[in-house]
Amino acid sequence: MSAAMIPFIDLKSQYQALKPEVQARINRVLDHGQYIMGPEVRELEERLEAYTGARHCITVASGTEALLISLMALGIGRGDEVITTPFTFAATVEVIALLGATPVFVDIKPETCNIDAALIEAAITPRTKAIMPVSLYGQLPDMDAINAVAARHGDIPVIEDAAQSFGAEYRGRKSCNLSTIGCTSFFPSKPLGCYGDGGAIFTSDDALAQACREIRVHGQSKRYTHTRIGVGGRMDTLQCAIVLAKMDRFEREVELRAQIGDRYRGLIQAAIGNAPAPSAEDVGSPLQGLRLLSCINESTHVHAQFTVACPDREAVAAKLAAKGVPTAVHYPIPLHLQPAYAGLGPATDAPISEWMSQYVMSLPMGPDLTASDQDRVVQALVEATA
Ligand SMILES: *Cc1c(COP(=O)(O)O)cnc(C)c1O
Repeated sequence: MSAAMIPFIDLKSQYQALKPEVQARINRVLDHGQYIMGPEVRELEERLEAYTGARHCITVASGTEALLISLMALGIGRGDEVITTPFTFAATVEVIALLGATPVFVDIKPETCNIDAALIEAAITPRTKAIMPVSLYGQLPDMDAINAVAARHGDIPVIEDAAQSFGAEYRGRKSCNLSTIGCTSFFPSKPLGCYGDGGAIFTSDDALAQACREIRVHGQSKRYTHTRIGVGGRMDTLQCAIVLAKMDRFEREVELRAQIGDRYRGLIQAAIGNAPAPSAEDVGSPLQGLRLLSCINESTHVHAQFTVACPDREAVAAKLAAKGVPTAVHYPIPLHLQPAYAGLGPATDAPISEWMSQYVMSLPMGPDLTASDQDRVVQALVEATA
């Protein structure tokens, strides 16, 4: 008997667990009929303000829109530079380029695939208008070091792309409340997902929050008074209602994600021994053997992805697929090598991003991954990489 395919991210079990809450919330919206900017929008924003500790939450149409509106609120445009990582989803950089600004890429640490804070200072110029770290896979980069270098250079705004890290903490403070602005996504497969597109901006700066609220609705300070150029960037009431229903289970899911991540690490380590995470010394020669990435002490990890470094990735992925274990690659080509972005900005020196992009492989992950499915994943992985 060939075993059934394990879901890469199991959204069905989550829905089963939350069905009455989700349906009640959806029905309430259908009954009141305020599909745009209905009461659930502000209710969710208040809930997320309380959850993160940020003074303001502004829900928006997607994580991409959250990043775009944040840059617009900071007045970033042509001639400005934004420092970020090339080892991320394209949306991070797309919004910089859309506004006519220039992405300046800083390389990552091989242990975590997050931006190397020690390399940021050398990339700052008088045109640097924001620093945009990404909390990749669900843990934070070294936010204290990033905020410190931003402060030393005239308080450059720091925008955390927290699309993958909602629920994670850094030194006891929640992701999205660690810098000038935090942006997250409620894309269904993210740690806190809706059933469509959605996202949110977090800030404790009153003026920036006001700017984001106005830009979200076509730059209106009041109806038909267009104070600034904006976008149609609202999150709809139904999606806000769905996130509200999911909030009741979210803290538990964050705990489960940490436990399942720890269990993965324990099982894989037991099979491969205490091999260290990939380090700068490994870069340049081919990776030898399967390796775990690091969890840093300062941050908790919500494992939006559980990602390992794996030689012969395509062959290993094919062997896993044959055993019903799906995998994914986040991300196969760093953005400074993508056709759309290769010509923008100063020449990029990102050997670690280029090296890691050959090896990263994400395994099935989620709060509802069962121990038996997880055992199957690890067994298949260990056999395929032996
Ligand atoms: C998913 C994601 C985004 C975009 O979020 P959407 O809601 O899909 O627009 C941006 N940045 C990162 C790092 C992401 O993972």
